[in-house]
Amino acid sequence: MTSIGRPCQPRDDGARVDHTGSVSDHEEPTVTHPRPPEGGPTAEPLSVALLAEFVMLEGVSLTARNDLIESARVRELAKGETLLRAGEPNEQMFLVLGGHLGVFLEGHEGEAVAMLGVGETVGELSLLDGSPVSATVIATETTRLLAIDEATFWRLTDASHAFAVNLLMRLAARLRANNAAVSKSVVERRRYERAAMFDGLTGIHNRRWLDETLHRLVKRQRLSGGHLSVALIDIDHFKQFNDRFGHAAGDHVLSTVASLLARNLRPTDLVARFGGEEFVILFPDTLIDDAVTAAERVRLAAAAERLKMPDGTDLPPVTISVGVAELGPSHDVTELLKIADLAMYSAKQSGRNRVVRASP
Ligand code: GH3
Ligand code: MG
Ligand code: MG
Repeated sequence: MTSIGRPCQPRDDGARVDHTGSVSDHEEPTVTHPRPPEGGPTAEPLSVALLAEFVMLEGVSLTARNDLIESARVRELAKGETLLRAGEPNEQMFLVLGGHLGVFLEGHEGEAVAMLGVGETVGELSLLDGSPVSATVIATETTRLLAIDEATFWRLTDASHAFAVNLLMRLAARLRANNAAVSKSVVERRRYERAAMFDGLTGIHNRRWLDETLHRLVKRQRLSGGHLSVALIDIDHFKQFNDRFGHAAGDHVLSTVASLLARNLRPTDLVARFGGEEFVILFPDTLIDDAVTAAERVRLAAAAERLKMPDGTDLPPVTISVGVAELGPSHDVTELLKIADLAMYSAKQSGRNRVVRASP
């Protein structure tokens, strides 16, 4: 760390010295956001005039800037050097004079969530609320900073209305950016949650959703009584179908069967893709006899469906084999699915394209 020497160096740019350096101690000049000169802050020695060019110090009185020059320190960071570490205390605000700082969230090593360049500040939040640093800040190139300690920071806030306003503006901008990031991440999270519960090919619920829902329904049935039936559906000779007409035609059949199931059931019945060419229907509050009737309706609808490829090419119909079971007093989810699977297997054994009711 290098202390900033006094007296401050006069600038040779007359115009700039005029509008920043010639203000009185009490009048805060009104400056309309001039940009720091290209490469200037890294190379130039600090001066009260130069300080006024940073957005954070715009309009700050000469006295306050003089105080800053006297009290703050210039700090140089090498590329890769850490300035602040998430979770650790911090008692300084840093103003970037040259170079760049990367802001890294914990667990996101390698990917900066923000880059701070000349004129930007970091660390002020810890000074304001005394909380530890929320992100790790690392120099992404050789970087020159003005380090403002806590006492100087509060003195500056007291002495300069302009500084306090600039600080508020900075915090408001950060709040807005954070709000935008939060809403974006909420939208993304919803999208991921949705993707985690739905099957990408058919658009109906997936196995994960089925497991969760079935556990919930079984628990509810245990508490409130009533009936819960399930149907396990498997497309017949689907491997042959794929082999003959291609995987794309097979995919098209899976989507068609999925929408056909939804179309032929009551709104309270629930459908999911169990995996591969297998589907499950959940029939809440339904006796096995009624579930068998519904399964039979679905089977007939499948066999009657005229299948066409998206390009209009005709495809032969597919049939399904279905096993239907009802939750018994001693069954858990695994057992319920197992007896439905056995019934489905028996439908295959006895010639396919049929519904078999599990024996009690
Ligand atoms: P069975 O009548 O005994 O059920 O015979 P099957 O040929 O339908 O049964 P098998 O288990 O031998 O084959 C299932 C086929 O389902 C094989 C696999 O390629 C196909 N399959 C599974 N998932 C998909 C998918 O997402 N898309 C397509 N196109 N085919 C799939
Ligand atoms: Mg199968
Ligand atoms: Mg099959």
